Amino acid sequence: MYDIIVIGAGPAGMTAAIYARRASRPVLVLEALTPGGQIINTPDIENYPVEAHISGIDFSQRLHAQAEDLGAEFVMEKAVEIKAEGNVKSVVTDKNVYEAKAVIIATGSENRKLGVEDEDRLVGRGVSYCATCDGNFYRNKVVAVVGGGNTALEDALYLADLTEKVYLIHRRDSFRGDAATVARLQERDNVEFVYNSNVTRLIAEKRLTAIEVTNSKDGSVRTIELRGLFVAVGRIPENQNFASVVKLDESGYIVAGEDCHTTAPGIFAAGDNRVKLLRQLVTATADGAMAATEAIKYISEME
Ligand code: NAP
Repeated sequence: MYDIIVIGAGPAGMTAAIYARRASRPVLVLEALTPGGQIINTPDIENYPVEAHISGIDFSQRLHAQAEDLGAEFVMEKAVEIKAEGNVKSVVTDKNVYEAKAVIIATGSENRKLGVEDEDRLVGRGVSYCATCDGNFYRNKVVAVVGGGNTALEDALYLADLTEKVYLIHRRDSFRGDAATVARLQERDNVEFVYNSNVTRLIAEKRLTAIEVTNSKDGSVRTIELRGLFVAVGRIPENQNFASVVKLDESGYIVAGEDCHTTAPGIFAAGDNRVKLLRQLVTATADGAMAATEAIKYISEME
């Protein structure tokens, strides 16, 4: 039996593992895909203290190495359920069952999809969820970004430097993201704002060639020819597998405060998947430290 099982090897989960190992606690980290989490999609992190520039991949690899060097055990299996029976928590994966005294859920979040027909089939063939990963493939081409938050605005700005033209499609006529970024976009000659509009059809043969956009005010339909569609309509926390043991809010985030305690004793939440005001790398790693410290306190009280 482990002292702590961490579900998710993103910045929050791997930081939790470091803190737990530095307290000499046996730790298992479960990860469905590859260590790193969403940050591996960021080419250049500029706002993490001390490192002025570091790629998401370098950041993740160094964090992973640090946790492993300290003795954290990593297993690439997807956790599908937590069973909390008394003081022992069982984490069921797609292959095994592991037991621990405390569990930290650090599963992050996944891209929200538009939900239009053929969206999945066209990923990598014109549809992308990561401008910084795929923008270079669309150099000097026409693209569109969908969304009205900071991700969409920053993606549009990034793509305006690379591509011939960027359509910024938003379902309302005012943006959720920062006004300063909107102002910078308005200065660009190659950015066209398409307000009150939803992407209602993807037109493609092998690759995406155009989209149909429907105006929600007057119902008019416009066809936009393009090569790339960047979807930036927010993220969905990956918590559904744990909804039977911890309380989620109406958006699916785990209800947990700054101390990372969930509604279930001995189960903690860290990072983007919990209710919080600011979802950034620095707040994810801070959560990892907090969740591990609180988990250790919980275990110590049982011993
Ligand atoms: P977000 O702030 O949740 O914005 C999502 C946007 O997508 C909203 O404008 C929303 O429209 C729209 N949307 C949602 N579902 C849609 C659908 N089905 N069809 C069309 N549009 C849809 O998500 P985000 O931009 O990814 O940002 C997430 C968090 O990270 C935010 O707190 C953000 O500030 C932060 N962030 C910060 C930075 C930075 O500090 N540099 C950079 C990126 C992100 P409505 O507005 O109508 O709801």
